[in-house]
Amino acid sequence: MVGVIGDPVTHSLSPLLHNTAFGALGLDWVSVGFPVHHGDGAAAVEGMRALGLRGLSVTMPHKAAVAGAVDELTPVADDLGAVNCVRWVGDRLVGDNTDGAGFLESLRRGVGFDPTDGRCLVVGAGGAARAVVLALAGAGAAEVVVVNRTPERAATAAALAGSRGRVGTAENAARADLVVEATPAGMGGVDEVVPQVDPALLRPGQVAVDLVYHPPTTPWLAAAAAAGATTLGGLGMLVHQAAAQLALWTGTAPPVAAMWDAARRATGAPAD
Ligand code: NAP
Repeated sequence: MVGVIGDPVTHSLSPLLHNTAFGALGLDWVSVGFPVHHGDGAAAVEGMRALGLRGLSVTMPHKAAVAGAVDELTPVADDLGAVNCVRWVGDRLVGDNTDGAGFLESLRRGVGFDPTDGRCLVVGAGGAARAVVLALAGAGAAEVVVVNRTPERAATAAALAGSRGRVGTAENAARADLVVEATPAGMGGVDEVVPQVDPALLRPGQVAVDLVYHPPTTPWLAAAAAAGATTLGGLGMLVHQAAAQLALWTGTAPPVAAMWDAARRATGAPAD
């Protein structure tokens, strides 16, 4: 058995994606969602030991607490200070973070984008944005510009890209090959939040990604497509980070197509 912990956890698609994968692989495994209150993430890791869970998927708000409760961190989880996946290596619990790898795989498979030597701009500095910044730098991006409402958090996120990271402004999107919207702002909504990068200013030749996956196409992404940019929603990142977790737990190649189908049905996303 594996589990996902979150507060709330009912909205998480992890059990659906993992149970779909277990079924497709013919594995006698099951994933269960555990509602774990804010502040109880470390206790949940002890629960994993006691219950003998084979793996744990971790969602908000427990990623930092779990990073402090496992026996070891992978370099990526250590850099991010955030764990989204726990697995056993021998008798030790290792915390990993598959968000960045999921993002890169989604970019590669979804729009054929290779960040090597690319100029990238990330809007946002939260957990998702930081994973993307680190992954883009690790994949060889020439620069990773971070634009965020709170400048101090932008600087922290940009530092993850080392000498290739810097804090910038929305105007820097004009010269970017890749623009990633990593805040909830692209959804629009009742508070009339205006996304920082005006999607109407994007153009053909640029790739625009919105990490939001529900709805599958945000107004920001639709406007970016109308301006001629190549666009990608967040569902691929969700599927591929979950697929990477499954591979870590089971040592088996994940059935990505089946997981994609389940994700599309659950979110109402259109088939390719
Ligand atoms: P988070 O840690 O709470 O960070 C939120 C970020 O959005 C912060 O940079 C915050 O800016 C910014 N922000 C929030 N409201 C804003 C507003 N009204 N105007 C401007 N900036 C605003 O959240 P997260 O976990 O990084 O998630 C961010 C988005 O990514 C969410 O929409 C989530 O659905 C999506 N996501 C997708 C995946 C996937 O697999 N596709 C995975 C994780 C997250 P401040 O720093 O100034 O507060």
